[in-house]
Amino acid sequence: MTFARPEYRAAIVGAGIVGLYTAYHLARAGAGPLLVLDRGFLSSGGSGRNGGGVRQQWETRSTVRLAREAVAAYRRFGRDFGHNVWFRQGGYLFLAEDPGELSRLARVNEVVRSEGLPARLLDAAGVARHLPGIAPGAAVGGAYLGSDGTVYPFPAVWGLYEAVRRLGVEVALGVEALGVERDGGRLVGVSTDSGGVRTRAVVNAAGGWSGELSRRAGLEVPNVASRHEIFATEPLKPFLDPMVVRASDGLYFSQTVRGELVGGLTVPHVPGTQRGVPSSPRFVTSMARALVGLLPRVAGLGVLRAWTGFYDDTPDGFPVIGEDPRLPGFVHANGFGGHGFMLAPSASRRVAAAVLGERVDLDPREFAPGRFLGPGAAPTAERLQLG
Ligand SMILES: Cc1cc2nc3c(=O)[nH]c(=O)nc-3n(C[C@H](O)[C@H](O)[C@H](O)COP(=O)(O)OP(=O)(O)OC[C@H]3O[C@@H](n4cnc5c(N)ncnc54)[C@H](O)[C@@H]3O)c2cc1C
Repeated sequence: MTFARPEYRAAIVGAGIVGLYTAYHLARAGAGPLLVLDRGFLSSGGSGRNGGGVRQQWETRSTVRLAREAVAAYRRFGRDFGHNVWFRQGGYLFLAEDPGELSRLARVNEVVRSEGLPARLLDAAGVARHLPGIAPGAAVGGAYLGSDGTVYPFPAVWGLYEAVRRLGVEVALGVEALGVERDGGRLVGVSTDSGGVRTRAVVNAAGGWSGELSRRAGLEVPNVASRHEIFATEPLKPFLDPMVVRASDGLYFSQTVRGELVGGLTVPHVPGTQRGVPSSPRFVTSMARALVGLLPRVAGLGVLRAWTGFYDDTPDGFPVIGEDPRLPGFVHANGFGGHGFMLAPSASRRVAAAVLGERVDLDPREFAPGRFLGPGAAPTAERLQLG
């Protein structure tokens, strides 16, 4: 494959939700020509493998704000892109198994409410109203926000792909970025298995492989890929509105419009992408046990399919957004853990600003790549992670 041009304003590595949304914001800002590269196919990364959860209940204000902006974007998605992403705002229900977890949820609840979102703390009876059939004693309480919900990932990726191509963005699938080209201290191009192109900016939106790409550019980063598994059951008559989550074991599940339960649970895997993404029998049995323990009514339900993908984790739980101070022109859009789909619309707007050299309205101590370079721990961390 050869590229249409020898030079681009920016080359974005990764045609997942983050890379495509970044291309969209850049193209709308009139910054062209733009190239998006992906060595796989559309949705081959985490963007085609996730649970579609979109929540605004977070421990830190900055994440609540990004998520609230993203919810507004997903509400508009059909109008903006002409594709229905089935954004169903059926809420997110966090379960607390003990008073300690309920106190933590109460603190989260305060942060979320202080940002103007009507999240509620629930007792056991309140939880049972949102989760009919919950096993007696399975939760002492929980937290709930009705405007959280779920999207279908595939039409979102596809809608963005079509939108950016209409805006003149070149999307090259099956092309691998091998590294960057430098002139002195500055980035001047990207090298690929289809040849090199000149560009002033390379955006690292490579999801679980972002650490590998940064290292190919000569930059050490603390991102670590972790494998996460998920399954879908046979369909059931609709009975469940919210996404249900339990932080203690990373259990989460929702019911799709087709009636399937789709969800995951944390089982340990060797960190890194080198072992690929096989599913494990251990996950299927642990997940089935956890689900049936919580909801005895689903015992006997068949599992239709199971699959896996990578999270791209950072030490403090915040994504990495902005230009790398060690290599001007190399812009990070990664480290989204298990939450890149829900944060992509708003986070990628800041990535585009960084590419254009505009002010990024995020606290650099939480989001900037440079936060890992200096001494001292981050002032805050976003620990309400799941899966
Ligand atoms: C099981 C599971 C459940 C999840 N559930 C949720 C959820 O409910 N809600 C949520 O918000 N998020 C969830 N996530 C996380 C979410 O899927 C990711 O954070 C998000 O999709 C990341 O998008 P991305 O565009 O950054 O990366 P990806 O979608 O992974 O795209 C990165 C792309 O980069 C390409 N690439 C990598 N290296 C190179 C290279 N060198 N050259 C060229 N191309 C390259 C890859 O082929 C890939 O297509 C989940 C993830 C998993 C695995």
